[in-house]
Amino acid sequence: MIVAKFGGSSLADAAQFEKVRNIIGLDSRRTVIVPSAPGRRFDEDDKVTDLLYRCHAEQAAGESFEATFARIGKRYTEIAKALGLSIDLVPYLDEIVANIKAGASADYCASRGEYLNGLLLADYLGYDFLDAADVIFFDANGSLDAEKTNTMLAKQFAAHEHVVLPGFYGSTPEGAVCVFSRGGSDITGAIAARAAHAELYENWTDVSGFLMADPRIVPNPRPISHITYHEMHELSRAGATVLHEDSVHPVSRAGIPTNIRNTNCPEHPGTMITCTAVQREDFAIFAGIAGKKGFSLLVAEKELPDRSETFAQGVLQAAKNCGLNFQYLPSGINNICLMAETRQLDAVRTQLVKEIEQLGILHSLTIERQLAGIVLVGYGIIHNRATLTRIYTALRQQDIPVVMLNQGSGELSTWVGVEDTRMEEAIRAIYAEFAR
Ligand code: ASP
Repeated sequence: MIVAKFGGSSLADAAQFEKVRNIIGLDSRRTVIVPSAPGRRFDEDDKVTDLLYRCHAEQAAGESFEATFARIGKRYTEIAKALGLSIDLVPYLDEIVANIKAGASADYCASRGEYLNGLLLADYLGYDFLDAADVIFFDANGSLDAEKTNTMLAKQFAAHEHVVLPGFYGSTPEGAVCVFSRGGSDITGAIAARAAHAELYENWTDVSGFLMADPRIVPNPRPISHITYHEMHELSRAGATVLHEDSVHPVSRAGIPTNIRNTNCPEHPGTMITCTAVQREDFAIFAGIAGKKGFSLLVAEKELPDRSETFAQGVLQAAKNCGLNFQYLPSGINNICLMAETRQLDAVRTQLVKEIEQLGILHSLTIERQLAGIVLVGYGIIHNRATLTRIYTALRQQDIPVVMLNQGSGELSTWVGVEDTRMEEAIRAIYAEFAR
């Protein structure tokens, strides 16, 4: 079976609901459907979730939230009317208003977007409605209780053949509604896919999958047809916006692929994210490129001669003691380099330098600032010995100095450090070299 999650723009109005029903009807394996709340219908439109948070803020400030809530009610009633649904929304809307007036939490308010949309969609599809508050559990710290949730969901899926499970929320041990972070319906979908032992997790959005580069930097980048969860994670470390991190773990661990699809272009295969690499016939070497500014490179060199093997460990321990999360670690026998966000490094610099000096074997320590980290990702890279030369040559031809170029053996990514003012040019040059 397939778990299909539909994002806010896929369910923004009645016309979008129709597209969603058509998509579901095309494959009888789509038996668990996870909807978001209605998103924007046009550029200046509001997302229902934003309006619900606004209702909560207005009530908390002692202002009237009725005008804002009327807009929310209207959106749902318009959808229900246009689709000819039999469900009477009035009691549901009245109950929500009464709860907001009684001081309901921001999480409760926000969750009603998915709740109401789930009710509508279940009615429209003829599927059973499963309230997420009864099956998705958070612990006392507000983290997902993954195992309790998994057991309960599996039980419910065994009892109901066709289910609509609203995304984004669940409940605390006290029974209060609790939400994930923004965009959290992706997480609900992934959790549902794991519990249902789905063969596929479909994530329907308004784009036909991921692109190999940021289109604001590279004109018309190619779509990514296949990528692994690991490759995707590497790209996200260099700033690419991909899936919500918490929506990867439940499915990747269970060996379930995720397919990013476009509700407005259902014939497009989108991007398939898999656990293991798939041969990319069309474009074998790399899966994508991304870049992020605001990095610094700390280079610590040890004194010679020195036979102790503990220099690298010492530097890493110092970084750990300071709570520094480095992004990359290109190192040699006598030196160790930490690439970290400048913001983070600056915050701990004095303590870090002091601790490294206390190792007593430091020869020199430099920090190079204002760097961009560019990452070229793809399993094909390690099978292609010419990759580093090609990157280097492409950048030289554009007169872009390479501050750092590193490819660990067995790694699926190559990191390139350049001055941050040259990042966009560098990405274009590398993309053009490999997209030839
Ligand atoms: N409706 C929520 C949001 O706007 C959750 C989601 O769409 O996934 O963040």
